[in-house]
Amino acid sequence: MFINLSNHKKSNNINEKVTFMKIILVAGARPNFPKIAPILKELENKTDIETILVHTGQHYDSNMSDVFFKELGIREPDINLGIRGNQAEQTAQIIEKFDKLVEEQKPDLAIVVGDVTSTLACAIVCAKRKIKLAHIEAGLRSFNYEMPEEINRIVTDVLSNYLFVTEESGIQNLIRQGIPSNKISFVGHVMIDTLIQNIEKAKNLQTWRELNLTNQGYAIMTLHRPQNVDDSENLQKAVDITIEISKKIQLVWPIHPRTKANLEKFNMLKQLEEANIKIIEPQGYLEFLNLVMHAKFIVTDSGGVQEETTYLRLPCLTLRDETERPITVDVGTNTVTGLNKRLILAKVTEILTGTYKKGAMPPLWDGFASKRIVDTLLKKNENAN
Ligand code: UDP
Repeated sequence: MFINLSNHKKSNNINEKVTFMKIILVAGARPNFPKIAPILKELENKTDIETILVHTGQHYDSNMSDVFFKELGIREPDINLGIRGNQAEQTAQIIEKFDKLVEEQKPDLAIVVGDVTSTLACAIVCAKRKIKLAHIEAGLRSFNYEMPEEINRIVTDVLSNYLFVTEESGIQNLIRQGIPSNKISFVGHVMIDTLIQNIEKAKNLQTWRELNLTNQGYAIMTLHRPQNVDDSENLQKAVDITIEISKKIQLVWPIHPRTKANLEKFNMLKQLEEANIKIIEPQGYLEFLNLVMHAKFIVTDSGGVQEETTYLRLPCLTLRDETERPITVDVGTNTVTGLNKRLILAKVTEILTGTYKKGAMPPLWDGFASKRIVDTLLKKNENAN
């Protein structure tokens, strides 16, 4: 376990009458980093709060982790738990190491984001240690219990004291789960805060040109959900769909390490290469955003990408049978297609002929979610003292 507590902020203004709060923020995997960045910045601006940034080490490749810290201006983690292994091993290691950390540091509050293994494991520790817990992006439900993320969401929400919701469906899901309404705050989306804060920087990049792409002349594919990439039959279906789409438009595919390993294992990479699909490494946040901004549409099974494309008004086809983010379908630019090739190709035709839906902006996706979260937490802390 790597510990570097020299750079986390302490209040040194002894004249200031403040309620001092020590907060641990947890991040572990790629989708967590754009979510913690704006919250951490907001907390770092407060003199009465000490923050400890914990990286569990769940994602450790430089293009899945370091690049996000650099590009999003997230400071070096104060503690890296350095966990490794499969999901069960990761959960066990995080519980053991995070428990020791919490015992030593005695925080007033821990903040977890999203639905990854790290979110769940740290939530369990906090509940057992009676540390107040805030869950950012609470209440999302796919109702597909085969998704590891759905289990992580349900357990984390049940154990949380403060639940911050990104879209209104989340409020209903939590109430149905028996969560008291005074624990729930509808605040908008921290991931959209990050997108808004970084869009100008991303615009200045030339990633799409460097890849010899033409503006609006390509589509992007991202795929990493276990149900799509671990099962060879489903992965072959996704590959077939990709090849069909690439007959209509150039496709670029930044490949997630898990997907790459499985394409290699099942001998499918060659089919993609033969179809002239641009297979590239996972992109940094800004580079990916640059590619997205110049693309015609996206085909994905990512959670965050469904939301980012809704914000950007870019068509998104989601290769899953359901979404835990229904606002992106009801209001935004998303269509849930599963691996239904006919439906996907029909939607691609709509997009290419300009008849696909245009989408609108979900409520409170305005760049101020992290401010609302920190204000709410401070108020709740004040009321509790
Ligand atoms: N992303 C990225 N580079 C890529 C692919 C995705 O920066 O090559 C970003 C994307 O913009 C979003 C986040 O990663 O902010 C989503 O992560 P991911 O799809 O891994 O997880 P999910 O949202 O499905 O949990």
